Parts: sequence; C-alpha cells; structure tokens
Amino acid sequence: MKCIKCGKKAGYRIQNNHLCQTCFSRTIEKRVRKELRLKRLIKKNDQILVLDDGSLNAQTSIYLLKKIIKGLPANIRTKKKKYSVLGGIINSTYNKIIIPWTLDHEIYYYLECLLNGKCPHYLGHYKLGNKLYIKLLLPITQEESKTYAEINKVSFKTPGTIRLSTQFSLDELEKEFPEIKYSLYQATQQLKKIYKDKEIKKKNAERNNK
Ligand SMILES: [Zn+2]
Repeated sequence: MKCIKCGKKAGYRIQNNHLCQTCFSRTIEKRVRKELRLKRLIKKNDQILVLDDGSLNAQTSIYLLKKIIKGLPANIRTKKKKYSVLGGIINSTYNKIIIPWTLDHEIYYYLECLLNGKCPHYLGHYKLGNKLYIKLLLPITQEESKTYAEINKVSFKTPGTIRLSTQFSLDELEKEFPEIKYSLYQATQQLKKIYKDKEIKKKNAERNNK
C-alpha cells in the first residue's frame, strides 16, 4: 500500500487513508492546528497550563502543543496532576488549561449524557470561571494519539483511562462499523450546538423578565 500523500510505503491509517509515517504525523498536527485556529483557542500572550497525569494523552498534548505554537509568544507550563473529573476546577493563574482528552473520551462523555439524561455542560472545549479548558486532542482518537506518540518517540507511563459508565466498547463497535467514531464525533458537536442555543435562549428570557 502506498501513502496517498507522497507515494512512499504506507504503514499507517487515518480513517480510510493509508499514510506513511511522516504524512501520518503531519495530518495529526494539521488537524489539531485547524481546531485551534477555527475555534480561536490560543492567542498571543496566553498563560497555558497543561495538566500532566503521566498518561499517553497528557504527554502527546505537551509534545503537540510545543510543536504547533512554536514562535507564538505564550507561557506554557505543565503541572503534574491527576485529572479525572471533567469540570473539576483547577486553581491557578493560567487562563487556558489543557486537559488530556481525546475524541474517544468525548464520545463516551456524550453517550453518558444522552443515556443518563445529563446536561452536556462539558462537551467540546468549555469555560469554567475565567478559564478556558481546552481538549487539544479532541479531533484525534485514542489510537491515533498512541500511534503519534510512538512515531515521535513521546514516552508515557500509562495509556490513560477512559472513564465511562457506558457498558459497551467503542473499539468493538468500530470493528463492526468502520468510521463510527467520526460520525459520533460529529453528533457530539451537533449536541453541543443545540445545548448552547438553548442556554442562550434561556439567558435571554431571564434578561427579558428582569
Ligand atoms: Zn507520505
């Protein structure tokens, strides 16, 4: 199999595209860069804190962030901390907090909200207090994060757990239905939009009642 981008021997895959090692890494970086740009997540002089729980996704986030925002004047620090609760408040002077979170995490969270009738407060990147919590690996699956780390020799202690009460495995589901992760990811974005619109309407109604 040949790489669809450069024609070299392909040993990797993103969705249905076969890629060589270099093009795989580039595609991952491009995706994250695009997310940062489209959603205007990071800007000049930001104070960025990356939560490092020693996991694969924390290490990949640190590596990717440094590579992507190279040249932009911003203060990046890492903090050793276990991050397990979505929406847990981090006390610090930093205005942007990067949490170890992938597309897989997002889908599990989405399903949990749907199945348990919970409000999807923390879908996508979210604001809490005056801080923006950024899921740098949101456009990337757990598997892609792992492959990226291996290619770029990023070392990590644990693969990082994906906490969920949902009973089935997304990876099993994907064997049966290829591309399902990406479809579900789009659904998470739709739900976020619906939820946001509802919140805005609610706020406007409250304002009008005053
Ligand atoms: Zn290539």
